[in-house]
Amino acid sequence: MIYKRSSALFLEAEKVIPGGVNSPVRAFKGVGGTPIFVKKAKGAYLYDEDGNRLVDYINSWGPMILGHAYEPVVNAVTEKAKKGTSFGMPTEIETQIAQLAVSMVPNIDKIRFVNSGTEACMSAIRLARGFTGRDKIIKFAGCYHGHSDSFLIQAGSGASTFGTPNSPGVTKGTAKDTLLARYNDIDNVKALINANKNEIACVIIEPVAGNMGCIPPKNNFLKALKTLCEANNILLVFDEVMTGFRLAKGGAQELYNIDADIVCFGKVIGGGLPVGAFAARNEIMNHLAPLGPVYQAGTLSGNPLAMAAGLAMLNALNDDNEVFNRLADKTEYLHKGITKVLSKNKITHTINRVGSMISVHFDEAEVVDFETAAKGNNETFKKFFHGMLNEGVYIAPSSFETWFITDALSYEDLDFTISAVDSVAKNLL
Ligand SMILES: *Cc1c(COP(=O)(O)O)cnc(C)c1O
Repeated sequence: MIYKRSSALFLEAEKVIPGGVNSPVRAFKGVGGTPIFVKKAKGAYLYDEDGNRLVDYINSWGPMILGHAYEPVVNAVTEKAKKGTSFGMPTEIETQIAQLAVSMVPNIDKIRFVNSGTEACMSAIRLARGFTGRDKIIKFAGCYHGHSDSFLIQAGSGASTFGTPNSPGVTKGTAKDTLLARYNDIDNVKALINANKNEIACVIIEPVAGNMGCIPPKNNFLKALKTLCEANNILLVFDEVMTGFRLAKGGAQELYNIDADIVCFGKVIGGGLPVGAFAARNEIMNHLAPLGPVYQAGTLSGNPLAMAAGLAMLNALNDDNEVFNRLADKTEYLHKGITKVLSKNKITHTINRVGSMISVHFDEAEVVDFETAAKGNNETFKKFFHGMLNEGVYIAPSSFETWFITDALSYEDLDFTISAVDSVAKNLL
């Protein structure tokens, strides 16, 4: 494949944008080479500035669950734009998407819309602190909750790719209120809670981790966490920015039958526009301004274009009772296919999968937490990434990322991908 124009565009971008990108993991630092510049996308495919077609397994890091340029979303946004793009005043569509979200997700009464997953998680912990009157939070190593200060402590994803788990600029004062636990290790959480009695406002978790590859919660881990939180008057916050409206209509809460106290959304809920949201039962949400004392606001929050995209996306998911099964079936098919060709080529690997999230790790040990995720062979991953790219398949340029399966992928696309893995595997050792 030729990337002449992408390379030229990247050189220009680097002069005026730090690292040439507006979000670090796009820069290919983890795998080497220069990033691909996208010209357009449709369905399961990206078309880059050099005219190459790529089968896309990033899908804007999750939002494009029904494929790129999904017509109902494009039409809804186009129609809305003609009527004005922002007012800073209430609009009916905000209530419509709120009603739909509340009806799809178990256990929430009210929802507040923001502009990103970062904002959603940042606001959720402020609310948890305001509600409980406590300062400390527990997060898990390798979980990513956006780039706000409290969370940039072993944050997974881009932050891990660069080996700078603690970003300069986060004050010691802020960092000391974030306690770090090991994913899938309930005894570790217990010990932290016991050492900080009556000081912990909330435990925040990706119910299925997706920012250190895909890591499923072990049997009963989430249930035990819920019980532990309840017993200590600690709020359980599910960061469902990745899993919400992806694993099921009601996200991981529905899939694992666990009620969290606060739930964060992003990605799919915006249908590809900048949207985040957080939600909870009335008792908690009524603490938010203007009803309560916890302040949270946004000039463009509930923006009509963003709400139109999100509403069209949620309606499509809500109206199609088979979509989540179809996604899971496609992902399982891919899983089996990749396992077969990697094994045939004697490549050491482990594959993790939940619903339409899947990750390939180049290590034979089970991947259950950040430590085991970090053990994967990064040299093999780099070769794998560039090999796949050359075959016309685009996966995330970091071994700490999940692949996102979109409903636009056909079984032909999946077979194409599996044969690409087969070809690449022959040169991996
Ligand atoms: C992507 C992500 C975020 C951050 O969302 P942004 O929209 O990038 O700010 C937070 N939490 C999880 C689990 C995510 O995957």
